[in-house]
Amino acid sequence: MAGEAQSDCLFCKIVAGEVPATIVRESETTVAFRDINPQAPTHVLVIPKAHYPDAASLAEGAPEIAADVLREAGRVAADEKADGSGYRIVFNTGAGAGQTVWHAHAHVLGGRGLNWPPG
Ligand code: 5GP
Repeated sequence: MAGEAQSDCLFCKIVAGEVPATIVRESETTVAFRDINPQAPTHVLVIPKAHYPDAASLAEGAPEIAADVLREAGRVAADEKADGSGYRIVFNTGAGAGQTVWHAHAHVLGGRGLNWPPG
């Protein structure tokens, strides 16, 4: 069923505490933790606790939680003091766009200059 934890999902395991992560924020519906392979001084992933495979399916299935993810992403940027100089929220969607974990997640990137267009 949409939103149910998946036993083979890495990020569901982080939500369950079965895989360790450096958690920087948590809300009723979301968890934010540092990316294991940071691409910027601030690189935090904000995920819904519920399992949706990507951002679009999250927005379709649980729009209120999608809004929670975005709000928490902004709070992470503020906590990290990345909001003054600018930061980026990225949802890689699909293998061709670089998605490797099939549990919706926002990358919050900041703390350095960010080029446009991205690679
Ligand atoms: P994607 O490539 O799907 O957009 O992003 C997945 C992100 O998850 C990558 O940036 C990758 O570094 C991160 N990641 C993969 N495995 C782990 C892990 O076990 N712990 C943490 N904290 N991040 C992970």
